[in-house]
Amino acid sequence: MENERKPPLRLLQEEALARRLPKNHPTLSKIQNSIAKRRAGYRGELNTDYHLTFLPHNRYTIVRDLSLTNQYSFQIDTLLLSPQIIFILETKNIYGELFFDKYSNQLIRTIEGHEDGFTNPREQAERQSYQFQNWLKRFRFPTIPIEYFATISYPQSIMKTNDEKLFERVFHTEHIVKKILQMEQKYSTPVTDNKTIRKLYKKLLMENNPEKMDVLSKWGISPDEMIRGVQCPECEQFPMKRIHGVWFCTYCMNQSKKAHIQAVQDYFLLFNSPLTNKTCREFLLLSSRRTTVQILNSMNLIKNGTTKTISYSENR
Ligand SMILES: [Zn+2]
Repeated sequence: MENERKPPLRLLQEEALARRLPKNHPTLSKIQNSIAKRRAGYRGELNTDYHLTFLPHNRYTIVRDLSLTNQYSFQIDTLLLSPQIIFILETKNIYGELFFDKYSNQLIRTIEGHEDGFTNPREQAERQSYQFQNWLKRFRFPTIPIEYFATISYPQSIMKTNDEKLFERVFHTEHIVKKILQMEQKYSTPVTDNKTIRKLYKKLLMENNPEKMDVLSKWGISPDEMIRGVQCPECEQFPMKRIHGVWFCTYCMNQSKKAHIQAVQDYFLLFNSPLTNKTCREFLLLSSRRTTVQILNSMNLIKNGTTKTISYSENR
């Protein structure tokens, strides 16, 4: 059993924001920087997924990209479940010369003489293991031993440390399978059964609740700074015109039947206010109430409320 890894919600939110800001907006380059970092993080996680396909057995149920809540919320990149042992894997896509200092418990990255400080990923993975232990207790699951690793996905990054034990838990992603196979030998006795693991897997997916950020206030952008309308999937111009049931681009003459899907998704990513016929019309620059009903009905959305005040939400 395993779930599919999808691009993180916050990445999608910032991409929607960047798409809908004028090219000369003063904040755009900072948002694009943030998007590049989140993209790199996501690539690192996909790299972990790739290396895990080389596990010689399928003893583990794999759960990817989990956002859970005890008292506070916490996030786990990759979780491997088995009746004997649980692994927590934290992936970092950090490029450069990396020094893990045991005195400050910091990761110091150097690129061309310039230093940056990061949280020690070993520390981060350890914290996640405590948080996950508490989560298991809260839902009355058995106390399965938890081990954690933090991996660096750039093979070119040089890793140094003054902490002799650090590399037991922090290493390049390509060593992940070897490290798992070594560690699992210490845990040959099952503390629970496969049925409980299946139950745990289902519960995790149920409780998984990625936090949607208020992306506009995070970047200090007001809704009226954003470009409304349907974007042309070919030339990326706004807005397309709805003519006889088809979206038409007046710049490149492209026609599309589905171009509104992206726009409706952008609405969900950017705003917290409900999507109603009126807000949809305003955002997609549609004049007809009936066309809007047709578009919304075609999208497999969840309808809330009664006919007069109907609103639509995503069917996740
Ligand atoms: Zn176009």
